[in-house]
Amino acid sequence: MKIIERISDGLESNSYLLVSGGESAAVDPSEDAGWFVSESLHCGAEVRYIILTHGHYDHMLALGELRSLAGAPLLIGEGDSDCLADPHRSLFRMAWGRNKVFDPAERTLRDGDRIILGEEEIRVISTPGHTPGSCCFLFDRGIVTGDTLFDMSVGRCDFPGGNESDLRSSLVRLTQLDRDLTIYPGHGPTSTLERQIMFNPFMNGEL
Ligand SMILES: [Zn+2]
Repeated sequence: MKIIERISDGLESNSYLLVSGGESAAVDPSEDAGWFVSESLHCGAEVRYIILTHGHYDHMLALGELRSLAGAPLLIGEGDSDCLADPHRSLFRMAWGRNKVFDPAERTLRDGDRIILGEEEIRVISTPGHTPGSCCFLFDRGIVTGDTLFDMSVGRCDFPGGNESDLRSSLVRLTQLDRDLTIYPGHGPTSTLERQIMFNPFMNGEL
């Protein structure tokens, strides 16, 4: 799996393009829909999926435009599918004072689901806490963690639908994965799971 990272200028949300065997998955299109399409072309791939790690506005500002440009189905965790039609839950209203809504997702994801991308498989790990439908996406040597896990921190739980005890259970699940995995978070730098298990205070028992 090839993974290309893009950090948005204004909001500093990370987007990712996963590429395998002539297909790509655009993860969290926070800005510049055209980038996902042109970067895919550059890799000899077509955008096959649009995937959201969760339903917050800062991860989907370019969603509408990308859907029209790429014509690819949208995938989101089952528990966050309502965010698309609810500007309160997506935080569009709070952050932007706008009631922005989107068409429903073509596919909702549950724990253990598999997404076939080109010659590889992405496994869905349901990690509620930051939002009820937050998901992590596991592939050969990495995991996209959205706002569930950052380098040395975790996502907030005080937004609508957030739940701290769920987040703690989700983090425990992540500690059971291969420590050599690279983590690709929704904000901030990439890191390794091992560094989080050893030094992230939300994962090593300090907090
Ligand atoms: Zn978020």
